[in-house]
Amino acid sequence: MPPTRNRAAVPEQLGFAGMPEKLFVCTPSKLGAFTDCPRRYRYSYVDRPSPPKGPPWAHNSLGASVHTALKNWYALPPERRLPEALPTLLKSTWVREGYRDVELERAAYRKALDWLEAYVATLDPEEEPLGVERVVAAKTAVLALNGRADRIDARPGPDGPEAVIVDYKTGRSGLDADDARGSQALALYAYAAQRVFRRPCHRVELHHLPTGTVAVHEHTDESLARQVRRAEETAQDIMAAEKAVAAGTDPDEAFPVNPGSLCGWCDFRKVCPAGATVAAKEPWTAVEHLGAS
Ligand code: SF4
Repeated sequence: MPPTRNRAAVPEQLGFAGMPEKLFVCTPSKLGAFTDCPRRYRYSYVDRPSPPKGPPWAHNSLGASVHTALKNWYALPPERRLPEALPTLLKSTWVREGYRDVELERAAYRKALDWLEAYVATLDPEEEPLGVERVVAAKTAVLALNGRADRIDARPGPDGPEAVIVDYKTGRSGLDADDARGSQALALYAYAAQRVFRRPCHRVELHHLPTGTVAVHEHTDESLARQVRRAEETAQDIMAAEKAVAAGTDPDEAFPVNPGSLCGWCDFRKVCPAGATVAAKEPWTAVEHLGAS
């Protein structure tokens, strides 16, 4: 469980002479890193130089390759958005890092191509999204939030055009509506997209390419506001931890470890006292099944 944090820090958002402090500049993944493990956040965003990371992960390479291929598919004119374009798109930006051997890498490439062919068959090439790998940004009382959404679709809603957040997933396990509902990143993208595009954005979708399934959640204004409030609380916890370190608190205490199942997958496992005790995953563990099928 994440450590209990000092909520008493919240009123300190008003600094000298009641002036508001600077907004906390963040992405959803920066906030997520702290929620998952404050120590991992410190290694990633606070310590400079940042401690050395472990080797690259094959599942990240696979995910990046598929995301880029889809981005480049949408960069083609509609008449060239054909399945035949996919092998070239995928090959030209294929990320090779992290695989056990060429055989596993080839198997992953073939699977990725299968997923992409099945996926683009479900898309209308004439339909232009509002944004592809689009950065959206918004400010709240505490946050200066920005993030890159995989895709933002324009769809008709009951009261006019709406924006829909689409996030591609390439992991092994399928996803359901609870995953879409619980994703803070998707909610924050929706919150920011409403402001950027000046239209409602409540629907968030996880498109799981390996199974061809789509997990959907329809947010309300209240549920988006709840996610923003949680994000603000996380930001306040981070700022409180940073201030504590500046005031002399041991950084290890201000950014405690959160040992658990994530440690085996953590880039900083080797430098972290908690992670060093956990069996490491191989860089290709999460894609090994692709070589067996
Ligand atoms: S190894 Fe575990 S406890 Fe250490 S930083 Fe990574 S996730 Fe946190």
